[in-house]
This record gives sequence, C-alpha cells and structure tokens, in this order.
Amino acid sequence: MKREIQRVILTGGSGFIGSNVAKYFVSDLDIEVLNIDKLTYAGNEFSNNTLKKNQKYKFLQLDICNYELLEKAFLSFKPTQVLHLAAESHVDRSIDGPKEFIETNIVGTFNLLECSRKYFNNCKEQIKKNFIFHHISTDEVYGDLSKTDSPFEETNCYKPSSPYSASKASSDHLVKAWGRTYGLPVVVTNCSNNYGPFQFPEKLIPLSILNAINGRNIRIYGKGDQIRDWLYVLDHARALHRVLQDGTSGEIYNIGGKNELENIEVIKLICDILDTLKPPKNKDFNSYSDLITFVPDRPGHDQRYAINANKIEKKLGWTPKETFKSGLRKTIEWYLCNDEWIRSLEIKESDMNRKGVSS
Ligand code: NAD
Repeated sequence: MKREIQRVILTGGSGFIGSNVAKYFVSDLDIEVLNIDKLTYAGNEFSNNTLKKNQKYKFLQLDICNYELLEKAFLSFKPTQVLHLAAESHVDRSIDGPKEFIETNIVGTFNLLECSRKYFNNCKEQIKKNFIFHHISTDEVYGDLSKTDSPFEETNCYKPSSPYSASKASSDHLVKAWGRTYGLPVVVTNCSNNYGPFQFPEKLIPLSILNAINGRNIRIYGKGDQIRDWLYVLDHARALHRVLQDGTSGEIYNIGGKNELENIEVIKLICDILDTLKPPKNKDFNSYSDLITFVPDRPGHDQRYAINANKIEKKLGWTPKETFKSGLRKTIEWYLCNDEWIRSLEIKESDMNRKGVSS
C-alpha cells in the first residue's frame, strides 16, 4: 500500500541526518514537516536556514521527554506520519556520561510512542490508514563482526556494546513492542554510518576534515583497522522516504551504503582529496597524512559493522546512488565552502581535541 505522505513530525530535524531529511522532504518532495528538536550541542537550526521562509516547514524547540507539550504538538499539527531521529548519538560521549542517552533515547522514545498511540487511537480513519511511526536506528545494535562474518541481516540477534548502542537497542525493542501489543503501525530502520554535509565535527569524517585544514593532529584510535560501512546522507534520506511510503508495518529494514572501509583508509582518502583541493601551505607538513597519529583504543571499540541491505533493495527498490569516493569528495568540498555554517556551531576546544576520532 502506498501511503500518502502529507504532514510529517520529524524529531531531531536540526541534527545531521534530520536536517538533510528536512530539506529533502520539504524542498524536493513538497512535504509539510514539523521539526521537533531540543537543540542540544548537536542541533543547529542554521542548518535549515534555506527552509526558514518555506510555509511547509515548521520548527518547534522541544525536548521529546516533555510529554504534555509533545501531545499538544501532535494535536495541533495532526501528522500523517512520524519520523523519529532525535537521539544522543555519539558513542564516546555515551561512555563519558550515559545518563542523557538513557533519558532521550529510551524515555524520549517511550514518550513519543505514547503520544503517537493516543493520537492514532483517536484520529480520523483517513489518517489512521496512512499513519506509521518510523524509528531510525543503527547497525550498532547488532554488536560487532569479525572480518569474515556475514554482514548484519534484519534477523540478527541484538548484542549492543556501548551505552549508546544499548540505549538504541532498548528504544528499538520499545517500538516493536508498541506495534505488537498496541497495534500501533511501526517500522524500524537500522542504518550504517552516515556521512555528508551538516555533520557536527565530532565524528570521524567531519572532525578529521576540520582538524586537517586547521593543521591539527588527526588522532586515530588503535591501529585504525576498525571497519565501518558508509552511507551518504542523501541516499539515507531517499531510503527513509521509500520506507515511509511503502514500508510494511511491523517490518525492519537495514540500510547500508555498500562501502566497507577501515577507518585508516577513510582518513587517508580524506587527506588525499584535501591535498588536491587545498594543498597544505604549512611548512611543517607536505601532506595532510603527516598529521595522522595513533592513540590508545577506546574501551569496547567494535571491530566491524557491515550491512546486508538486500531486503530494502528487493522489497522497496532502493539502492544507494553515491559511491564513497564521489560522496566523500562532495562532503569535503561542502566543508571547505561552508565557513559560515562552521562558525554557527558552538564547537568547544574539547570537541576538536577529543582523545581520538572514530565513527
Ligand atoms: P545528531 O546527534 O546529529 O542529531 C540529533 C538531533 O537530536 C539533534 O538535533 C539534537 O538537538 C536532537 N535531540 C537530542 N536530544 C533531544 C531531545 N531530548 N529532544 C528533542 N531533540 C533532541 O544525530 P544524527 O547523526 O543526525 O542521527 C540521527 C539518528 O540516526 C539518531 O537516532 C541516530 O541514532 C541514528 N543513526 C545515526 C547514524 C550516523 O552515522 N549519524 C548512524 C546510524 C543511526
């Protein structure tokens, strides 16, 4: 069944993936979006600046842990679907301080589910038949793989390693339980590492780009041999739209980019592209790769994630369009040309100077 997508509540729409989704849905697909975002350090409404004057885009600064105000937002906006991305999302931060991960990722998701359930039970038949609660999750819930294991499938058991992935795993279970127990139409997607424009510089790719162009060391955990699959954020946005439109209620879809690389390979590629786009002028180094340094690994660091995305490809006809090289080049060009966005962030010295970079 093709759902009519008219008014979407998007949580976390001022974050990295959310702001790319907001622009894709509103500008490219002409869908009305209410972005609900608390604006933590990772949220930046400047990322949605081009949508400011668009009648189809609305922004509400709100913590998803605030049930009463969430409920009001549902009643006044009357969403046809919910796309839930708001989360605390950085593994290193979850190790340093897990509390906010439990509050937002678990309690916040519970609140949204309860709001959606009440709204769904009382809404008109026309909305009911199109409604779905789409929860965005991560491949990290499946734990890690050895180099020879097969990529994660939707049927894999959950084995989260970090407070972040454990909190996401908990929220996935809640969503599935609300589907099974209360009959709320739900769908869960588990995606691999996203990269692209508008990502706060604390994760591997943007942090390495910004450290390199500022002549700082690029500190890589362990030997840098951890393997991740990389998904260009706009390919992800297209996949989310396909699932919202045609995804079967109660199903799980894995979304991956077919780009498995070691972290060190990613960083070397970034340095190579930067060497051609912005040759170093600093006399202390000839290539950005001279800035790479290795630091002790973080606790519980997963070795490999890999996604089998056959299901979404076969059932919904989605495939990633971007190759890693083309997507990475676009991403680096974007960071080099968007100084104003970088200046709009509240980046602390400690963000740029983290113990190490990872994904
Ligand atoms: P992000 O950290 O860039 O953005 C998260 C957004 O959520 C921010 O705008 C933040 O202000 C908002 N937020 C946080 N707590 C909130 C709260 N209590 N109430 C309302 N808003 C709140 O994250 P992202 O990288 O865009 O990830 C989005 C989603 O995708 C997350 O659920 C994450 O787990 C999942 N995911 C991300 C990746 C990735 O590579 N980035 C990979 C797999 C899954």
